[in-house]
Amino acid sequence: MRTSSRRWVTVLGSTGSIGVSTLDVIARHPERYQVYALTAHTSKEALLAQCLAHRPQVAVLDGEVDAEWLRQALADAGQATDVRAGREALCQVAREACVDTVMAAIVGAAGLMPSLAAAEAGKRVLLANKEALVMSGALFMQAVARSGATLLPIDSEHNAIYQCLPTQHRGGLARYGVRQLLLTASGGPFRTWSAPALADVTPEQACAHPNWSMGRKISVDSATLMNKGLELIEACWLFDATPEQIEVVVHPQSVIHSMAAYADGSVIAQLGNPDMRTPIAYGLAWPERIDAGVETLDLFQVARLDFEAPDEVRFPCLRLAREAMQKGGAAPAILNAANEIAVEAFLAGTLGFEAIARVVAEVLALPYAGDADSIENVLAADQWARQQAVEQLSKHARSLDEQG
Ligand code: NAD
Ligand code: MG
Repeated sequence: MRTSSRRWVTVLGSTGSIGVSTLDVIARHPERYQVYALTAHTSKEALLAQCLAHRPQVAVLDGEVDAEWLRQALADAGQATDVRAGREALCQVAREACVDTVMAAIVGAAGLMPSLAAAEAGKRVLLANKEALVMSGALFMQAVARSGATLLPIDSEHNAIYQCLPTQHRGGLARYGVRQLLLTASGGPFRTWSAPALADVTPEQACAHPNWSMGRKISVDSATLMNKGLELIEACWLFDATPEQIEVVVHPQSVIHSMAAYADGSVIAQLGNPDMRTPIAYGLAWPERIDAGVETLDLFQVARLDFEAPDEVRFPCLRLAREAMQKGGAAPAILNAANEIAVEAFLAGTLGFEAIARVVAEVLALPYAGDADSIENVLAADQWARQQAVEQLSKHARSLDEQG
């Protein structure tokens, strides 16, 4: 059944924003790629439509009831896709022997084990799931080195930096004459808002990003600048950089996707329209280049590029992430878990926008004796931080009531 020249691709989180863009690029190149597996959490209708369009060998949903629904619907349509359920099935389709490429596009800590499974199995790993690297950076990079996996960053900033660095950049930036990495940030929808105005931000406002169309969790992270904080940690692991070697530059047009500054004074940037299909196509085809369905940047229309420093007083999450990386050990996993709980509560309408940073700061300030030196310990830190964050949430909810 396998056509030898085509690569089998597993798309973890195929119904999400990155997953849909990935399938768009794949569909433009049927001679190069075929879909091995598609996975979703609970969006069974969306997964059914993707199965009918892309005819994967395997489809995975979280719950058995949803999986049975999909099995029946596919059987009715006369399609023989093997439908599986549960978390272990995600790891199976990530490490399956015939699979060449895994797009890791599940959101949050839920993506850790399947992303890691792809790295351990030596796949070409297209990493969108930045939370996996934030939680388990050292272990993840060790797994890549041990298995010989090819790790290609999909986050647009990291993909840009990857393009601006020499092909062999492992072993410290200074060795390759790199002085600094310049990580660009749009500044999010509230870049120009005053601190008092931030108190009344709604989930809908936070999810309306000025330049990028993304899932709800990363949209909120972009609005608090936690996304840039997670990306700073991600860049440290991907490029062997220290937090001090990374400068965040607010660039509201999102045309420069990031830059590398060299010892001789050169600054190399990657530019393009803000469309995730560009880094996705880069990851799929590397070291070749293929059509991503994205127009060439029209510089006359862009006309100008602006830059400013981030405001860490109105947006403390960036500072919290930098400090967590400087502290090391389990701190980044704790930061990530507390943030996931706080963002969920904000999206559910039970926590104010500004309290997201407060909950994360409070959980990070609590003593925690564990480390992040094994995957069990990373998961333990994640669980601990979630429980602590839930307790902090109830405090904030109470103080809101008291004020009311
Ligand atoms: P999304 O919310 O649109 O999609 C998430 C996908 O993961 C969906 O397919 C969903 O079904 C699946 N999923 C969610 N929870 C799950 C669980 N518990 N178990 C299994 N599957 C689950 O998210 P997105 O915007 O596509 O982002 C995906 C990842 O890529 C995130 O880590 C995000 O930070 C990163 N990323 C996204 C963008 C972007 O432009 N959207 C850019 C850079 C990085
Ligand atoms: Mg990004």
